[in-house]
Amino acid sequence: MLALEEARDRLLAAIQPLPPESVALPLASGRYLADSVRAANHLPPFDNSAMDGYAVLASDVAQASSTSPVTLRCIGETAAGQFPGGGMIAGQCWRLFTGSPLPDGADAVVMQEDTRPVDGQPQAVQVMDAVRPWENVRFRGEDVKAGATIAEAGARLDFGHLALLAATGVSEVTVVRRPVIGVISTGSELVEPGGALQPGQIYESNRRAIEVLVQRAGGVPRSYPVVPDDLKLTQEIFAMAFRECDAVVSSGGVSVGAHDHVKSAVEALGGRLDFWKVAIRPGKPFTFGHVDGRQFFGLPGNPVSAVVTFLLLVRPALIRMQGGVDVQLPVSFGVLAEPVTNRGNRRHFVRVRLDSRGRVRLSGLQGSHVMSSLAGANGLLDMPPEAHWEEGRMTEVIRID
Ligand code: AMP
Ligand code: MG
Repeated sequence: MLALEEARDRLLAAIQPLPPESVALPLASGRYLADSVRAANHLPPFDNSAMDGYAVLASDVAQASSTSPVTLRCIGETAAGQFPGGGMIAGQCWRLFTGSPLPDGADAVVMQEDTRPVDGQPQAVQVMDAVRPWENVRFRGEDVKAGATIAEAGARLDFGHLALLAATGVSEVTVVRRPVIGVISTGSELVEPGGALQPGQIYESNRRAIEVLVQRAGGVPRSYPVVPDDLKLTQEIFAMAFRECDAVVSSGGVSVGAHDHVKSAVEALGGRLDFWKVAIRPGKPFTFGHVDGRQFFGLPGNPVSAVVTFLLLVRPALIRMQGGVDVQLPVSFGVLAEPVTNRGNRRHFVRVRLDSRGRVRLSGLQGSHVMSSLAGANGLLDMPPEAHWEEGRMTEVIRID
């Protein structure tokens, strides 16, 4: 049996990133950068005021206080979006607003709340507090220097990156193409939700989970009709999927049962398959292969096994297809609110719910067919074989939300 990490490494080693494409910044959320981006401009682009107030010379107001205010002559005003058409000297001040560029000569900003007007003297401003040199000034380039790297190749673009890229003038980025992922469910017992169930039938559900997980991993899911356990039909649907998609994820039909046709179908298409027994629960067996250079991921049919193997093995592969660097699920830390036991001899990924106060509870029964505890889970505990963890134990929770 393969250790999970070994299986993941093998799988990632077989993945090539897809080609890059250019997209407009508003469409780049969740995409992976193909090339690092350098700032074309300083951010901020000019020295500016952090406050509504008055540009001053700090030395003019060094002794100012509410009991002995310093009176200055206001000689100009610059609103945000304007540029000061002059400078100032000692004894003068200049009205500014948050983001207004500083006039030449000024070396600090007094906030409006520390000033007051003088009756009958419209140009006079009384300053009632001292400022240190450069107080309330935001410097050109203090956030980002022109030429600095602001986003690394392989980063997944999120709101923070998009705002930073926009702030330095970027309107378009080069990202890796999203992989189109064929999603196939196999099993003669499966019917589409909505219809009536005949005895022995169940509703098909894996595609709904896998589509969402593909999307969250940056891929574009393309679902195919449910494939009954028939070699010829299985071959037809798989052939179509491998023609239309960059990779295919199927569930079910990869065990040793007489009705498991996925292996034969993929091999009949000229594909190569590796059957892996990955030492995790829920999860084995997991199948990985290629058809014409396109990846094939064969997940177990049990809904929880399908989701867990997708998250631990397929998700990293999809991210790597997009050039993503960070392929692991994030973890949080929490405290067990109840004891948890793994009686089995395989590493168990236990479905749990981590609440907003950091407490961790089982989300329900842990059988690989139990879907209610999947619906209630936002995390997985990675529990070694034959382990018992007491209530109160601090533990890592793999975030699946
Ligand atoms: P299999 O791996 O094909 O032997 O399936 C294992 C178990 O998972 C069986 O109980 C199947 O009925 C169930 N199963 C397989 N595929 C799905 C699916 N797409 N939706 C819901 N249950 C499934
Ligand atoms: Mg089946």
